[in-house]
Amino acid sequence: MAQPTPLVAGNWKMNGLRQSESELQALEGLLGAGSDAVCNVLICPPFPILSRFADVAGDALMIGAQDCHTQVSGAHTGDVSAEMIADAGATHVIVGHSERRADHAETSSLVAEKAGAAHRAGLTAIVCVGETETERDAGDTLEVVLKQLTGSLPETTTADNCIIAYEPVWAIGTGRTPTNNDIGEVHAAIRNALETQFGDNGTRFAILYGGSVKPANAKELMTIDNVNGALVGGASLKASDFNGIIDAYRP
Ligand code: PEP
Repeated sequence: MAQPTPLVAGNWKMNGLRQSESELQALEGLLGAGSDAVCNVLICPPFPILSRFADVAGDALMIGAQDCHTQVSGAHTGDVSAEMIADAGATHVIVGHSERRADHAETSSLVAEKAGAAHRAGLTAIVCVGETETERDAGDTLEVVLKQLTGSLPETTTADNCIIAYEPVWAIGTGRTPTNNDIGEVHAAIRNALETQFGDNGTRFAILYGGSVKPANAKELMTIDNVNGALVGGASLKASDFNGIIDAYRP
């Protein structure tokens, strides 16, 4: 069975203006300048600049969105459909990020609908799962993560249209990361669940780690078994930092 192609994905969250295009260009320059990285690279900017970024991004860079609605169109003020995201030229969409689960009370069944909408529009869904600090302290990490995982994957899921991101909520934007053993344990459990559900194809899903990934820790984190890339928040905003994380996949 083919191994998953690693992905280093940047989630810009609610950051970025039209002028941030210069950061995208700087990243393209860095990607073109060094030795080739053996990973895919994705930037997920906020909606207002998504289409522009998709227009100007070269072959080395893919563009994605950070959320989508479940419906194709209609009376949903302020929402954006997966079809609109695809029409803007994006290829991926993050669904179920912990900030959306927390700030917008998104449940796993809604996340599964959103991932299904992404597939309907031909997008790859990046489905996020992760425990809170209270859940980890209570020893419930694997139970919480696996429940979110199985509840968040729609019937249309395949290894080609879905990427999993394990992001412990307490590690996001805090500078704290789990131990390598703890990350390996959760990624192994996710892999195992995918193999149970998808048979041999379960080995083909990329499973990203996210939560305070920086240039200084990326190489070590990316060598943990079943870690097939990173979902990066803060350190994806500056091309030089993000490129330092991509270095983990350069010879
Ligand atoms: C994220 O929000 O997806 C994330 C991983 O953020 P940070 O890298 O800043 O911890």
